[in-house]
Amino acid sequence: MDEYDFDTLAVRAGQERSQFGEHSEALYLTSSFVFNSAAQAAARFSGAEEGNVYARFTNPTVTTMQTRLAALEGAEACVATASGMSAILSTCMALLKAGDHIVSSQSIFGSTQQLFGNILSRFGIETTFVPATDVEAYRAALRPTTRLVFIESPSNPLTEVVDIAAVAEVAHKGGALLVVDNCFCSPALQKPLELGADIVIHSATKYLDGQGRVLGGAVCGPKVHTEEVFKFLRTAGPTLSPFNAWVILKGLETLKLRMDAQSANALDLARRLEAHPMVERVFYPGLPSHPQHALAMRQQSSGGAIVSFEVKGGRERAWAVVDGCRMLSITANLGDTKTTITHPATTTHGRISPEAREAAGIREGLLRIAVGLESVDDIYADLAHGLG
Ligand SMILES: *Cc1c(COP(=O)(O)O)cnc(C)c1O
Repeated sequence: MDEYDFDTLAVRAGQERSQFGEHSEALYLTSSFVFNSAAQAAARFSGAEEGNVYARFTNPTVTTMQTRLAALEGAEACVATASGMSAILSTCMALLKAGDHIVSSQSIFGSTQQLFGNILSRFGIETTFVPATDVEAYRAALRPTTRLVFIESPSNPLTEVVDIAAVAEVAHKGGALLVVDNCFCSPALQKPLELGADIVIHSATKYLDGQGRVLGGAVCGPKVHTEEVFKFLRTAGPTLSPFNAWVILKGLETLKLRMDAQSANALDLARRLEAHPMVERVFYPGLPSHPQHALAMRQQSSGGAIVSFEVKGGRERAWAVVDGCRMLSITANLGDTKTTITHPATTTHGRISPEAREAAGIREGLLRIAVGLESVDDIYADLAHGLG
């Protein structure tokens, strides 16, 4: 279906109808598959005949979701996983061995930082963390053993934008692969593989599902890499359940509509917040005041749906804004149609030392809004209660 546009692929790619001719994609809630004969069972197990055997390996609903997401990312293949974190873990387990080295942006999801810093390190895989936007720092951190460079763009919560093409070049010159966690933009707004990345990771829990229902993850890229990830998954087991795959598959059908609408809401909200006298600073790549606005507009089709802002008056005022909300959901989750509000310094980034947090620019007055589909008037009015 490669000749079709993104919007078409989002609703049609990967579907194979059964003998019943169902219009909507079927949900195959089955853990195993039966064979016509002993000979077919043997052929399926040996790999001589393609087909499903057991849902830890493959399931038709999961396969449909993988094919559709691969089409949207412009990837040769996709492997679905039980969560975003298992996508990252499986990629590392498939492609790395003891003695290998990772260069990672320091502005990455907290659990990814823990995985690299505290878990992989126990198995002889070391990670060097570098400032997200400093391309030279990635180059300087490379070692002969560096196998992966890992980034997120835009970052959480300060929406720093990493120059994907420039970091890809650095990684490739150093003989490493560039892995991009594309969670914040989704393929609706950013296609890292087109910019030179080798592998794209997703937490499908966020925008791909888009309605806060299920956990899921994915690894997209060329088959040489995804097949290694698949070999790990089918043995180790963090595969995506068919039910979750089906929910995410239906989520993909509205991905672009949601991302475009939520980004438009975010831009509108960011502009209004920037004009509020109690707001010190707004972090949003779609605003001309963002330090990497030009880069963001080159590599993303819009600013995305995450807006962070710092209020005057530190933690006291920030908490007053959170507690003044009657409608916004107080939760650290993001990527939902319902707008959420988080105070990073005391939640997602609460375990970091105050000095390190300050150095990372995550101040006590900072709030992160994951903008949903409600009216911007209502979202803004809710925030204004506590802003004073
Ligand atoms: C949530 C998130 C993850 C982890 O995904 P799970 O589905 O919760 O395991 C990874 N990266 C980013 C950027 C995220 O926001």
